[in-house]
Amino acid sequence: MPEDNNKNNQDEYEKVCYVCRRSESKAGPMVRMPGGICMCQDCLQKSFDAAITLTGGDFSKLMPGQELPPELMQQYGVPAQKTEKGKDTEGTEEEKSAANGPSQNPGMMNSPFGFSMVMTPEEIQSMLGRRPMPKSVKKAENSEAPKIDMKKMPAPHRIAEMLSEYVVGQDHAKKAISVAVYNHYKRLANGDQDVEIEKSNMLMIGPTGSGKTFLVKTLARLLDVPLAIADATALTEAGYIGDDIESVVTKLLAAADNDVARAEQGIIYIDEIDKLARKRNATQRDVSGESVQQGLLKLLEGAEIEVPVGANSKNAMVPLETVNTKNILFICGGAFPDLEDIIKERLNEKSSMGFGSQLKDHYEKEKDILKYVETEDIRKFGMIPEFIGRLPVIFTLTPMDKDMLIRVLKEPKNAIIKQYRKLLEMDEVKLDFTEDAYVAIAEKALKRDTGARALRSVIEGFMLDIMFEIPKDPNIGSVTITKEYIEGTGGPRIEMRQAMLGAK
Ligand code: ADP
Repeated sequence: MPEDNNKNNQDEYEKVCYVCRRSESKAGPMVRMPGGICMCQDCLQKSFDAAITLTGGDFSKLMPGQELPPELMQQYGVPAQKTEKGKDTEGTEEEKSAANGPSQNPGMMNSPFGFSMVMTPEEIQSMLGRRPMPKSVKKAENSEAPKIDMKKMPAPHRIAEMLSEYVVGQDHAKKAISVAVYNHYKRLANGDQDVEIEKSNMLMIGPTGSGKTFLVKTLARLLDVPLAIADATALTEAGYIGDDIESVVTKLLAAADNDVARAEQGIIYIDEIDKLARKRNATQRDVSGESVQQGLLKLLEGAEIEVPVGANSKNAMVPLETVNTKNILFICGGAFPDLEDIIKERLNEKSSMGFGSQLKDHYEKEKDILKYVETEDIRKFGMIPEFIGRLPVIFTLTPMDKDMLIRVLKEPKNAIIKQYRKLLEMDEVKLDFTEDAYVAIAEKALKRDTGARALRSVIEGFMLDIMFEIPKDPNIGSVTITKEYIEGTGGPRIEMRQAMLGAK
């Protein structure tokens, strides 16, 4: 790894800052403090600044025996009940943990280095919401990740079956993602043995609303692994306004409830990856997207990233955890508009080189041209070769057609119509749709050109009235949504409870 500059260090352990947890190799030379703890110069400066804020610049207030004003103690989270050990930062760990009795002098300070010295190291940690930490952290190369039990891992066909309960169609994508995920976890189970298995990061290409995000979300839920979803358009190089690239790992750690080991085996989905493409035919060189691609390289490959715990940005008061991305599965997704033209161009070039015009016609008529995608096309689109090289599994999703939209309405376990049916069931009202109503909804959604995403807004449009009006009349026993109602030329069919009973 490029940043790993500990290699020359013969000592197996390196010093770690007690406040920010960065190691010497990251934070620079450490200052040794009483009690055998170390602090980096950044944190020392912050403590100093805080001491000025706390005392209003009067450091005589920091002398032993002085109490802090209660409002300052509250502001800086200094516990009201101090322990004896708070007074003695020079004692050994054993002496400190032995002394647990309440102190006579709450909030007493005995060092000019601000509130980091007001409290014992344990109290600093509890204030920062961090679990107890050893004085030094074992270097990353010596640490081991928890082993994966492959017996518990469903086989690819099972994963695909499980996905099918929620995701309609997209059989090829389901197959590809199931195999890639299965191999990924096999790779983790294999550890670093004789044959190192390559990481199966993925690139998903498919139009808006074809179910890319939904597929990943469903997968993570079924496998019970943490998932972070990030939008590539929000990512910027470090130092610019926006989320820096490493923030995706921060999100994953949060999704894993700050459990580093779990996060290290999670999934990160980066949406709208096509927006990072280098602009084609641009007069000026556009480097912003390209440099984010560059920045993502080390994450995709595997790097040690320091992420703040419980906050979005790094600063000296936020605890840091080191997350290794080596075993994190990265899935990138994007619509890649105009990629079809690039593919067609390539295919046509090939076909005009001897195979004749028959093939050319074939490609012209082909609806799902995306499935012929090759890495060369993606490179032409504007993704850098190193980036594509780190996403070895590439697959496409088909655009939603009318039939698929109808299936999305009816089939998934948590289909939106099933959800509405359940809601009305609670009012003891039966909800039905006529077959042509389904078709009308799908046609309306198709016009919006946002795939299955449009279904929800179409349905919500007309279900609002139903959900408002029906509970008004307790005599209503069933509602049937008709094509006329969807198209605005008629109303729903309503049946009263009495009539339903009579019919029985
Ligand atoms: P995108 O491809 O733009 O990421 P999404 O995955 O966000 O699309 O899809 C939007 C919504 O459409 C999902 O939340 C899901 O409810 C629905 N959806 C999309 N594709 C499918 C599908 N194949 N099967 C079932 N529902 C789907």
